Amino acid sequence: MHFGVMKLDFNCLRCGSKNHEIKNIYLPEKKDGILKMDVGLYYLKICLDCGYTEMYSAKVVDKNEKIIFEY
Ligand SMILES: [Zn+2]
Repeated sequence: MHFGVMKLDFNCLRCGSKNHEIKNIYLPEKKDGILKMDVGLYYLKICLDCGYTEMYSAKVVDKNEKIIFEY
């Protein structure tokens, strides 16, 4: 499992439940406005109680994680 997902371990924004699962998905994304498509890693955080789903870019989550560990 990717390390950055630990940062997503918080309560559901809609119902406050702690029951959730994290899925890794790969989606095509544009790179620097060029038409060449690249594939980026995203995390889906799915609430198991109400089904509320959030999507996070792994790049951003992992970048923040590194900043935290510089302390
Ligand atoms: Zn929920």
